[in-house]
This record gives sequence, structure tokens and C-alpha cells, in this order.
Amino acid sequence: MFRSLHIRFTLVKKGYAMSNRIRMIRISRAAAQDWKCFYCERLMWSDGRIPNKEPQLQCTAEHLIPKSEGGGDDQNNIVAACLYCNRIRHRGSKLKSPEVFRVFVKQRLRVGRWYRAQH
Ligand SMILES: [Zn+2]
Repeated sequence: MFRSLHIRFTLVKKGYAMSNRIRMIRISRAAAQDWKCFYCERLMWSDGRIPNKEPQLQCTAEHLIPKSEGGGDDQNNIVAACLYCNRIRHRGSKLKSPEVFRVFVKQRLRVGRWYRAQH
């Protein structure tokens, strides 16, 4: 009983430490990107740093190689991307490489077929 409680507590703590670490990577990435999305280059908001609260433009940690494909939670595999781009990239079964997806997003933006912020 005590043992299982202890294990559960340790797992919770470990999960928290991990998500906190990813958060730190995400924030440092976002700062290096001037808070612009890695793909669409729109200004993102996060943790009250940027007042624009456009839901789709929330800053998220984007795994270049998805975890499901063996990508890690390390600095080299995480960039900052808006929620919209992040969701669209990982939707469906055929994942585009970051480079291909970036070109795809830029093309879509040019023809007005990507998410348009209200601001
Ligand atoms: Zn984006």
C-alpha cells in the first residue's frame, strides 16, 4: 500500500519535472524565434507574456520528430509553434517533414488558406 503510493507520487513528480523541462525549452525556443511560430511566423502568446490571446496562436512545444516516431524531449527536437500549425501538422497519418510543412504553410498563407488571426 505504502509502496504503491510512493511509486505513484514519484511518477507524478517525474511527469511534472518533465513537462516543466519541456516548458523551459519551449520558452527559450520561442524567445529565440522572437515569439514567432516556427512554421507560419505569426506572433504567439504564452504565459501572459504576449497579450494577444488568440486561442489558435498559443505557443506550444512542437516536436520536429514526433514522440511516436522516436523523437525525444530534448532541445534539438523541440521548437515553438502555434497551436494551429502544431495540430495541423500532426493531424492525419502522413506527417510532413518540418521543412516541407513550413513551405506548405507559407504557400497556404499566401493564398489566404491558412488560419487568419483576428488581430
Ligand atoms: Zn503557426
